[in-house]
Amino acid sequence: MKIVVLKFGGTSVGTIKKIKKIVKIIGDYRKKNYRVIVVSSAMSGVTNELIKKSKELSENFADTEYDVLVSTGEQIACSLIAGRLIHEGYESRSWLAWQIPIITKGLNKNSRISHINKNKVLRYLKIGGIPIITGFQGINNEERITTIGRGGSDASAIMLAKFFKAERCVIYTDVEGVYTTDPNKLNKAKKIKVISYEEMLEMASLGAKVMQPVSIQDARLNRVDIEVKSSFIKKSGTLITKKSNITNNKIITGISFTHNDSKVTLVGVKDKPGVAASIFKPLSKNLVNVDMVVQNISANGKETDLTFTIKTDDLLKTKKIIRNNQNINFRKLLFEKDVCKISVIGVGMISTPGVTFRMFQALANRNINIMVISTSEIKISVLINKKNTKKALMALHKEFKLDK
Ligand code: ADP
Ligand code: ASP
Ligand code: MG
Repeated sequence: MKIVVLKFGGTSVGTIKKIKKIVKIIGDYRKKNYRVIVVSSAMSGVTNELIKKSKELSENFADTEYDVLVSTGEQIACSLIAGRLIHEGYESRSWLAWQIPIITKGLNKNSRISHINKNKVLRYLKIGGIPIITGFQGINNEERITTIGRGGSDASAIMLAKFFKAERCVIYTDVEGVYTTDPNKLNKAKKIKVISYEEMLEMASLGAKVMQPVSIQDARLNRVDIEVKSSFIKKSGTLITKKSNITNNKIITGISFTHNDSKVTLVGVKDKPGVAASIFKPLSKNLVNVDMVVQNISANGKETDLTFTIKTDDLLKTKKIIRNNQNINFRKLLFEKDVCKISVIGVGMISTPGVTFRMFQALANRNINIMVISTSEIKISVLINKKNTKKALMALHKEFKLDK
């Protein structure tokens, strides 16, 4: 049985017209004799609306109920798709994750798919049915509904492709594929034909929303090739696959940037062993993810400044935790929301010296100040003022010849 998993994102099912359009795409695969498993996200904007409602009711809306609430968006989209397919004469039905079931492990809001029961869906595929399965959600061993993180339908599709041994896993979205940078921010961005899991994971983790980071980890672990393409226009997209399938001589593959980082600075911290640990321990205990960190060398050996970045969503929580921390002394606490982390990513930098210098020089030439730096084997990230994001993107895109 030739199985294909097709995932449609929020914008691809955002209107009635678009749902009619994607039903044609599904039909085309059926006509080519594929057995089709469809995974859908919620119609665009729906999940955000639901989250807004929960926040209006409580700043600390219970995670268990959050999952029940936000998973409903997918139910709407799936029934609309199935209903339209039936209208067009296909055998189809919607499937909520718990009905399959798709089993997850881990905490509410942030679970991970661990197992998918294949029996019912396989039987349905065999009789030519088209199952339309809700992305983004599952059920845990306490039979509670879970969700798997924002953008999680990507991971649902990849795990379905793994468990059903699908020949192809296609992620349909509102852009033609993965680009050198967000094409909605920089019109010079170029579509990437093929990209490794490693680079895609970095690009996604560092802000490229086109794929959810966890989904790429799942794909790499299970060796699932992914095609990312547009549901609006019929054009070839991007293949995400293992490194050995790629012959690419670019040093830098892409540039990502973040939308929701904040910078925190503790000025005049007493410089003694263990102080950084005292600051970060309660943050990590409260699930605040600290990202970039820089500590100045204290000139007098007594005091230092410590700067780090967090997600802006965690800013209030962070302020409270630091102010209530009895184990640290500092003179001033500063916060800044208008920052952006911009990163260049590419496996080519492992073997090419000078990438760091070129990045810094390109930014310096445009008078862009760098606040914090962090690097790994295949990426360099810098923190800059948000107002310079576009200017920096243009400079780096040109410097690393991504326009070509
Ligand atoms: P979907 O609703 O299909 O899941 P998303 O909104 O999650 O779609 O992801 C698609 C969006 O990702 C695009 O509209 C684009 O603005 C953004 N994006 C960010 N970085 C990139 C990139 N490098 N390549 C392509 N798209 C990107
Ligand atoms: N609807 C969910 C979200 O908005 C899942 C997804 O889009 O993949 O995060
Ligand atoms: Mg998405």
